[in-house]
Amino acid sequence: MTVAVIGGGITGLALAHRLRARGTSAVVLESTSRVGGNVQTHARAGYLLEAGPNSFLDREPTTRELAETLGVSSRIRPADAAAKNRFVFTRGALRALPASPPAFLKSDILPLASRLRVVGELFSRRNPTGSDESLAQLGRRHLGREATSVLLDAMQTGTYAGDPEQLSAEATFPQLVKFEREHRSLILGAIRAQRAARQAKAAGSVQAGPGLTGQMSTFDGGLGVLVDALAKALGDAVRTDAKVEGLERSAEGWKVRFQERGQPAELTASHVVLAVPAHVAAALLRPLDAELARQADSIPYAPIAVVHLGFAPGAVPKPDGFGFLVPAVEGKAMLGTIHVSTTFPFRVEGERVLLTCLMGGARRPDVVARDEDALAALAREELKTMAGIAATPELTEVIRWPRGIPQYTVGHLERLAAMDERLKRWPGLHLTGNAYRGVGVNDCIREATRLADALGGEAAGTVRSA
Ligand SMILES: Cc1cc2nc3c(=O)[nH]c(=O)nc-3n(C[C@H](O)[C@H](O)[C@H](O)COP(=O)(O)OP(=O)(O)OC[C@H]3O[C@@H](n4cnc5c(N)ncnc54)[C@H](O)[C@@H]3O)c2cc1C
Repeated sequence: MTVAVIGGGITGLALAHRLRARGTSAVVLESTSRVGGNVQTHARAGYLLEAGPNSFLDREPTTRELAETLGVSSRIRPADAAAKNRFVFTRGALRALPASPPAFLKSDILPLASRLRVVGELFSRRNPTGSDESLAQLGRRHLGREATSVLLDAMQTGTYAGDPEQLSAEATFPQLVKFEREHRSLILGAIRAQRAARQAKAAGSVQAGPGLTGQMSTFDGGLGVLVDALAKALGDAVRTDAKVEGLERSAEGWKVRFQERGQPAELTASHVVLAVPAHVAAALLRPLDAELARQADSIPYAPIAVVHLGFAPGAVPKPDGFGFLVPAVEGKAMLGTIHVSTTFPFRVEGERVLLTCLMGGARRPDVVARDEDALAALAREELKTMAGIAATPELTEVIRWPRGIPQYTVGHLERLAAMDERLKRWPGLHLTGNAYRGVGVNDCIREATRLADALGGEAAGTVRSA
């Protein structure tokens, strides 16, 4: 069996690595000159910059296992203790997110009436329709209007940069839907789940699982450490500057046509895995199966811009906490800011301060269309208004992702089921990556691992593809 993996992001690399570890021949075709996709780390003038993801929650066993296999697990670095504080910009000020229910009741994160409404969650109803609904609908039923537009909105912004009126509750926060189904109240569900996790831990049960939380972490050289280690382990099984342009069924399985350093090339494989963004998968699928292509193309993306602002030692005070999130009701272009030098102090030299501002998102696509200077100016202006940081940075870098984060809109899981059904017509063809079953780095690695294992054990059963 030979597997052609299209796309050398974290998904494609982790998949190929796992396949090869299982003795299956796999080759990765990556269109650009470098692997990693969204994961890109580079050092510049005393700062370690991430163009895409900054961290992962160290609770996913497959990510740990991958790091261990690659010999880089000792390089995992948890966030500094100072990063436990998080803030939300609401009602004109940065306010600390309370860490416990009693702290929430005493805090000023929401006005008193809205805090009391959250307590009323204990008496809330289940989804009367039983079918998928938007995150905002779920939130309003349980937490009330204001907690939804401030807290739930901030929570989803931190992962999806999305629009909670559009996002599917079930696909984006399955744990909340599970709590509702099993316990009616989200608060009761969370309390009982925490209690069960504590009991399982105390009993030393192997069933305890990874738990609900995990430590936010990166590697000592940024997330690029993982990508570099994968690229090294895969060696010449990764072909860069290899842009796939077409797929055809062949006697051996699949023929993949691509441009390699400007020259037409092709290879045959028994299986093809599309580990590319959904719109790229759609373009490759269209000549084969217009319906499957339409389904893939209906997964939208939120554009996002990353603005790094680096401040010389002493130019600004070291900000407290992990950073802050900005709910959409505030009407800002900024989604949030990560206090990188507080969270991961080793990512700056000396006493420099590095802030990474995230701008745009599903509700402000216009922002990401602006040029880099305008984006940097906007980030600085809003940082001044919201956090009082007015100093001139010594480093400014802007990265734009026109298709940043896939949006799992209402009906996403049904769409995946329909795609799975459709894929049955195409034996040996598989779809994976952040567009389907999780947008985080952990999700990508978990799904890649699952698919590799299913392919490796294919003779034993069916392979879930999308
Ligand atoms: C700004 C930003 C911040 C984020 N922050 C976090 C975070 O802090 N934590 C977290 O867990 N996640 C975060 N994420 C999400 C996470 O980074 C991504 O979901 C994940 O890296 C996606 O990996 P992937 O391999 O599925 O896709 P991609 O990274 O998109 O990789 C797909 C690859 O396919 C290649 N390709 C495209 N077309 C072709 C073609 N025709 N032929 C061959 N190759 C092709 C692309 O060049 C690319 O390398 C963030 C994402 C962004 C954009």
